[in-house]
Amino acid sequence: MKLNANAETVLKQRYLIKDEDGNPVETVDGMFRRVAKAIASADALHDKNTDTEKVEALFYDMMTNLEFLPNSPTLMNAGRDLGQLSACFVLPVEDSMESIFEAIKQAALIHKSGGGTGFSFSRLRQEGSTVNSTGGVASGPISFMKVFNMATEAIKQGGSRRGANMGILRIDHPDILKFIDCKADNTEITNFNLSVGLTEEFMKAAEAGKDYDLVDPHTGKMIKQLNARTVFNKIVDAAWRNGEPGIIFLDRLNRDNIVPEQGKIEATNPCGEQPLLPHESCNLGSINLTQMVKEENGSRVFDWDKLERTVKHAVHFLDNVIEVNKYPLEQIEFTTKQTRKIGLGVMGWADSLLMMGIPYNTEEAVQLAEKVMTFITEKGRQASQELAQSRGAFPLFKQSILPQDKPQRNGTITTIAPTGTLSIIGGCSSGVEPVFAYVFIRNIMDGTEMLEVNPILKAELEKRGLYSEALMRRIAQEGAVSHIKELPEDIRRVFVSTHDISPEYHVRMQAAFQRHTDNAVSKTVNFSNEATRDDVAKVYSLAFSLGCKGVTIYRDGSRDEQVLNIGKVK
Ligand code: UDP
Repeated sequence: MKLNANAETVLKQRYLIKDEDGNPVETVDGMFRRVAKAIASADALHDKNTDTEKVEALFYDMMTNLEFLPNSPTLMNAGRDLGQLSACFVLPVEDSMESIFEAIKQAALIHKSGGGTGFSFSRLRQEGSTVNSTGGVASGPISFMKVFNMATEAIKQGGSRRGANMGILRIDHPDILKFIDCKADNTEITNFNLSVGLTEEFMKAAEAGKDYDLVDPHTGKMIKQLNARTVFNKIVDAAWRNGEPGIIFLDRLNRDNIVPEQGKIEATNPCGEQPLLPHESCNLGSINLTQMVKEENGSRVFDWDKLERTVKHAVHFLDNVIEVNKYPLEQIEFTTKQTRKIGLGVMGWADSLLMMGIPYNTEEAVQLAEKVMTFITEKGRQASQELAQSRGAFPLFKQSILPQDKPQRNGTITTIAPTGTLSIIGGCSSGVEPVFAYVFIRNIMDGTEMLEVNPILKAELEKRGLYSEALMRRIAQEGAVSHIKELPEDIRRVFVSTHDISPEYHVRMQAAFQRHTDNAVSKTVNFSNEATRDDVAKVYSLAFSLGCKGVTIYRDGSRDEQVLNIGKVK
């Protein structure tokens, strides 16, 4: 197996089964065998005579060759008692004490199993409104979000990973201004990502500078009007200050709601890439595009045949996950199996561009993104249609908005996840993000330093006889390859990193992938520290006009404690 040292470390620390003293009782290879066997076993549920060992070998090869990896909970829990395999859940929060605390309990069970939860708080009555049963006043969505946050803090997900939440409030909720500013203090509500749910109507009013209505969620009556542009600018200002809240376009999530009769989509999972109905869950998986590149006539190109095969097996794998998954609640199992959504995506996109010598911030890269994602979604649908022939369509297929001539096994096929951990295991760049930095200097415990160099850059420099440790140190300090004047022009142009790429190109790349993705795309649009509020506002408008389902932005240095730094020691 071709795992690098970081991948080994992550797997040993967090994924392998351990004994009571915390020592692993399985090997990395054993983990992949456990997962392959558990997921392949679903084939026998459809056909007793099927050769599940053959399927197991296929899944094992696909994972150990790092061509495809399922989301973390599947790697951690498949074939084990816990058996909860999904990363994404959305839970309903109705305007009653029973519902609020039921959601907290359900979230706790999900977090314990490694999943993340999303909630819309838009149904909760506003702060200061009356509570009939007690004659008191309601404390409003933000105070309840703090309770959800504390509960999450208390359950550190059984040592595997911390709970992650998404909190959404509609733009027409009376407490919207408090929501926009509720994370101004970085130490508050830390287990939540926040997004404002925007409507097309609001966006039009903001463009025109008009007023819009705030609506009492309890009575449905308009209680006040605000100027849409002023509120839009407040969101921009808060995001400029520290990256929160993000925005999502609710009407677009619902335009792609495949079963509108089942109700409205009001929320997404924690990182925003998976819109779901209340009580729905989804399991994700990602194809490592760096493994889909081949040499042809002296240059590197995508191997479309290999990609097609991988997509087909990945869809088979993810459909099996729905079958063998042990759901945290019966209601989640029921809702999930009604639509059988899967979220197949990609990682290693930026690295594959490097391999092919195409700069991320070019028209060529944007067009190739469209081509790759069109291909994956099309081939994925075909694979799901083939599965439907032997396994049947998802139960709500007839009620769905999908074309009725070709039954499909899965309500949605594609989603682009952040692949925070999967990309470490796969040894590639994460999701569809550009490379953040090409060289890291890692401090080792005994006081020595270790250089960690992007393997594609290293190979290219070695090939040209340009590699040296001194050069790598300079790249680490400068934070970008493009700044090193004595490097050949083509290397400086191709090996771009996050901060070489204009926010416009970040959005255009997100939009290119979104156009051919059933669900949504996880992407952060990065700004330099000097970016203005106006720059942020322009990107929001661009994301809206290019058809994105939402945007998250981050201005370098705008949070005291940021995860990744360039030009600094990691
Ligand atoms: N997620 C979570 N907690 C985490 C990281 C991720 O609950 O610490 C969930 C969340 O729903 C997120 C999804 O997993 O949107 C996918 O995240 P990512 O692709 O980074 O996960 P990976 O499979 O790489 O661990």
